[in-house]
Amino acid sequence: MPLMKAIQVKAPGADFELVQKEIPEPKEHEVLLKVHACGVCHGDAIVKQGYFPGLQYPRTPGHEVVGTIVKLGSESHYWKVGQRVGVGWRGGHCMHCKSCLKGEFWACESPLATGISSDGGYAEYMVTRMDVLTAIPEELSSVEAAPLLCAGATTLGALKSSSVKGGDLIAIQGFGGLGHLALQFAVRLGLKTAVISRGIDKEVLARKLGANIYLDTNKVNAAEELIKLGGARAIFCTAPNSKAISGLIDGLARGGQLIIITFVNEPMQISPTQLMRAVRSVSGWVGGNAADTINFSVLTHVVPMVEVFPLEQAAVAFERMMTAKVHFRAVLKVSEG
Ligand SMILES: [Zn+2]
Ligand SMILES: [Zn+2]
Repeated sequence: MPLMKAIQVKAPGADFELVQKEIPEPKEHEVLLKVHACGVCHGDAIVKQGYFPGLQYPRTPGHEVVGTIVKLGSESHYWKVGQRVGVGWRGGHCMHCKSCLKGEFWACESPLATGISSDGGYAEYMVTRMDVLTAIPEELSSVEAAPLLCAGATTLGALKSSSVKGGDLIAIQGFGGLGHLALQFAVRLGLKTAVISRGIDKEVLARKLGANIYLDTNKVNAAEELIKLGGARAIFCTAPNSKAISGLIDGLARGGQLIIITFVNEPMQISPTQLMRAVRSVSGWVGGNAADTINFSVLTHVVPMVEVFPLEQAAVAFERMMTAKVHFRAVLKVSEG
C-alpha cells in the first residue's frame, strides 16, 4: 500500500504527531486530492483540544484545503483528474434531514465538517466529497486561495448577510486572520472602515490594507470613539474575547448590529437597556460561500497575507495562530501546485 505523511492528533489535548499512513481510497461521490496547501484555522483547535462531542481519534485536522484531484471514486460530469480545487469547513450534507429534503443543504441538521468528521488537509493526500468542491482559478496560488475557503468565506458571508451598505461606517474588532480579510472585503464593498486592535504595528498594516480609522484600545475607548464618528452600522467581532466584545455595544449606531464571527465560549455581559435604547442587536455568523468568495477575491484583488510553513511544522504554525502572533494566516505548504 502506498504511504503518505500526515499530521494527526491521537486524543483530545495530545500533541500533533507526524505519521506515515496509507493513502485513503475515495468511495462513491468522493475524490482523492493531492494536497498543495492547507490553512491553519482557529477551528482546528476543536480537534486539538477535543471540543466536539463524539469526535473520533486519531484525526487529521485542516479545513482550508487546496489540492489537485488525482482520483475519482465515481464518475462525475463536472470534476476531472488534474483539476485544482478547494474544500472548506463544509464537508457534506446528510440528504435526509428536513432541510436537505427541502433542498436547503446549507442548513443541514447533521452536516459533515472537513477535518472533523473525516480527516482534513494537514496531510499529503485527503479524501473529500465531490459536492463540496470549489474550482480554484489560475489567478490564485494554492497558498493564497486556502485561507479564503474558511476565513474568507466567513468574513465575506458576514458582511454580505448584514444590513450594511456602501458608505456606512463599520468596525472590525481584532486584526488577525479573519480581521485582515474582513477589512479588505469591507473596503472593496465601499464601506467606511474602523479597525479596533492594539499597537502601532497593526495600525501600519491596517492602514496599508485600506482602513480609514484605527482605534488602538491601549490608548482609547473604542465604543466612545465610534459614537463620536456617528456610531457603527455594524461591528464584526473576530477576536475571541467576550469582555472586549461586550464593551463595543455602546459604539453601535441606532439599529446597529454586533456580529460575532469568532469561536468563544465565555459568556458575555450585556444590559438589555444597551440594546433597547438604540434598537441594537447582537448575532452570530458562521460559514459562507467558498465559490462566491473566490470569485469576489479574484474580481477585486483581495489576497490573504500569509506565513508559510512546511507540513512538518504544523505545531509551530498552530501555536503562532493560537497566540495571535501570525501575520495574518498560517498556511501549510504541502506540495507544489
Ligand atoms: Zn476555519
Ligand atoms: Zn441534512
